[in-house]
Amino acid sequence: MFKIEDFDIKLDTEILGRQFVYCEEAESSNTVLLTYPEYDKEGMVFLVENQTKGKGRSGRTWETLPDQNLTFSVLLKDSFIGEKPNLITLAAGVAVAQSLENLFQLNVELKWPNDILIEGKKICGILCESISNNNKINKIVVGIGINVNQTNFASSYLINPTSIKKETKKVASRERLLSEVLNNLEKTLDLLNVNYKKVLEAWRERCKMLGEKVKIVDKNKETYGVFEDIDNDGQLILKHNDEVITVSFGDVSLR
Ligand code: ATP
Repeated sequence: MFKIEDFDIKLDTEILGRQFVYCEEAESSNTVLLTYPEYDKEGMVFLVENQTKGKGRSGRTWETLPDQNLTFSVLLKDSFIGEKPNLITLAAGVAVAQSLENLFQLNVELKWPNDILIEGKKICGILCESISNNNKINKIVVGIGINVNQTNFASSYLINPTSIKKETKKVASRERLLSEVLNNLEKTLDLLNVNYKKVLEAWRERCKMLGEKVKIVDKNKETYGVFEDIDNDGQLILKHNDEVITVSFGDVSLR
């Protein structure tokens, strides 16, 4: 059960989540917000309990049990899509990280580009998708899946999953967490538009792989090097011998 009043009372945003849809079952919250004209509103949040075809990057799936976790998407339009749309994934990572730190004192790690880990285990995945027309982005949906109270997961994942309950041994309020994430997300997106470098700083502070030797896999291609930094568009800068490579996609792991 999701108590909308408990969520609403802690919501401190101007735009995000002020239009809110709670749905028992849908294929994917991102797909709904991308395709349903009736939900095409700035800041609309669509929360789904039972997501039957949750998406990850490159056709991967996000798997989650109903009533235990948070699976939702946020629709961004004109006032939030500024000069740096490529940084929205990182900004969302920062907002979720801050929320897990504030509410549960968890020690959160950001993994480039879109995952949130606790001691190497995955607690949250983020997937941004957009629709453009003539090179102009019309809308971006930020899909966020957070493992909240689920304690049993499939064992087949490359990165072990964890949840808030697994880490803290306590049941967490999904309503309170959702409002906290939206409060932080709105602030972080506003900051992205006035001073995006501060968002990059907040991201770097939580990225434990910076400066480490890493391997990047994209399809069948493997690249090795030192994870030097992220650039102003959120791409990973890899240094290999004296060569500097900019990476915009791939799976990073420690070497
Ligand atoms: P990876 O986690 O392998 O680096 P990714 O960053 O592309 O991949 P996403 O696209 O965000 O990950 O999410 C999809 C992947 O996350 C799946 O392939 C699966 O390995 C893993 N996964 C799916 N559901 C969950 C979950 N509830 N908790 C943690 N991990 C999950």
